[in-house]
Parts: sequence; structure tokens; C-alpha cells
Amino acid sequence: MRIVLLGAPGSGKGTQAQRLAERSGIPQISTGDLLRAAVARGSELGLKAKAAMDSGRLVDDSLVLGMIRERLAEPDTRAGFILDGFPRNLLQAAALDGLLAELKQPLDAVVQFEVAPAELVRRISGRRTCADCGRVFNVLTSPPPTGAAALCPSTGAPHRLMQRPDDNEATVAERLRVYAEKTQPLIAFYRSRGLLRVIDAQGELDAVTRRLGQALAASSAERVRRSAAKGAARPKRAARAVKRRSPTARATARRGKAARKKTPARAVRKKRAAGARVRKPGVRRRTRR
Ligand code: AMP
Repeated sequence: MRIVLLGAPGSGKGTQAQRLAERSGIPQISTGDLLRAAVARGSELGLKAKAAMDSGRLVDDSLVLGMIRERLAEPDTRAGFILDGFPRNLLQAAALDGLLAELKQPLDAVVQFEVAPAELVRRISGRRTCADCGRVFNVLTSPPPTGAAALCPSTGAPHRLMQRPDDNEATVAERLRVYAEKTQPLIAFYRSRGLLRVIDAQGELDAVTRRLGQALAASSAERVRRSAAKGAARPKRAARAVKRRSPTARATARRGKAARKKTPARAVRKKRAAGARVRKPGVRRRTRR
């Protein structure tokens, strides 16, 4: 399963990506998380990305693409991946296409999370992340569980909930503007490739998880249906024979077929109209003895 989750900041794609990754064992690849980790480490990439992240702008494409290329080369992505927060613009989407074609691992589906703007702002204001395990909670819509389940799997202690520095009012407004300008065009891009599924990402967390599962199931059923239809339309042997011929040979064959169809009949009609006697093809002239 190779999928992209598309949606505005606060649409819940990160939370659903985590749930899907836990259930399927396929890794979630969040460019936001990777960049935040780079900032926390103080690496060169982190230092270069920080200013754009703090102001809500997109980080330079070349930095993000280098990071993604490295991540997709890791062995845990062989069974698939869940891309969350990438691609973010048309250039990144085209680069992803190229990279996946190189790896012979095309995308299976793109799911767009639809949430009303007012709800996005409300969700972002309640969002908290565990500083140790990275799990995302929302103090308004999905608070951390209590009791034993409340313990962080990384430390064994209660989750240490933090608010992201870019989840403040001014930066959120800029991130939503950037989403509308740069990321929304990807909806048409993936729709035109027949990959897009749209889900209502509002309401209960479990209900959204169900809708995501249904969208992915519908998408894989559609893939199976399409490949079966393709197989039926062109039997394999004929398809291979056509493929084996060179383009020039195919063009010559096409011209020959057209010539066989039209020329003799037309020429015969012309001659007859001019009063000439035309023999039927295949009838021999009698020879005198
Ligand atoms: P996110 O956690 O996905 O909301 O991303 C947080 C911030 O990281 C964004 O506001 C951007 O500054 C940066 N970022 C994340 N993903 C990308 C990406 N694919 N391209 C450029 N910048 C990104």
C-alpha cells in the first residue's frame, strides 16, 4: 500500500496516518515530523528549515526532496508507505512521480481529508504532541487516555504533552493560506490521474478511521477492476506481438491495411466510369491455342 494523505493543517491526517501505520505495520512518513526532528537535533537541514517552519511557509523544495529520497530508500518502505504532509506543491508531486517511477513503486491512492475552515482552527488550537513518543492528541476532541493506557510507550511515564510552536494564531493563518495556494492544486492533479478519494474528515475519530479504510478498500477494488478490464480488452499474446513490432513496422502495416481496403475498389470504379473493361481480380485472360 503506497498512499498519500492530503489535507489542510489540522485536518487530522497525521492522527489517522499514525492509526493506519499501527494497524497495518506500514510506516508513516511525515515530512513535518522529519523536519521537526532535524530542527531538534540542530542539524544543517534543521537550521536551514527552521525559519520557514516558524513563519508557516514551506521549506525549500530541494531540502524536502533530498530528505524524502533518503527516507524512501530505507528498507521498511518496501511493503509500502503512508505519506503525510508530502507532497505540498505541484513541483514536489511531479518529483515524487519521477522518484516512484524510478523505484517501480507507483502510488496506489491519494486520500483528501475534507474539514471546514472553522473546525481546522479549533482543532489546531487543541492539538498537543507527546514530546517523547510523538503521538498526537487533542485536548478538545481526543484527549490522552487515562490509566495504564496513558503511559508513553517510549518512557513508561505519562505522556509529556507539548504544543507545537507553529500552532499559534498568526502562523496558523499563514499555513492555511499556503495550503490554499500551493497544496490545493494537488487535488486536481491527482484527480486527473484517477487516484483521488475524498473523505469527510469531521466527526468522531473512529468514524473518520472507518471512512479512510472504506476509501482505501474502494481504491484497491477499483485497481483490480481496471487491470481485469485491461486484460480482457487486449489478450496477452496479441498485446505482446504488437509491442514486439517496431514503430516503423507498425506504421507500414497500418498503411498497407488501409491501401488493401481502399485503393483497388476506388481504382476499379474510376476505370469503369471511364468506359474501360476491368477484369475481376483472380480471373485469368484466355490465351489462344
Ligand atoms: P506539518 O507538520 O506537516 O504541519 O508541517 C510543519 C511545517 O513543516 C510546515 O508548515 C512547513 O514549514 C514544513 N513542511 C512540512 N512538510 C513540508 C513539505 N512537504 N514541503 C515544504 N515544507 C514542509
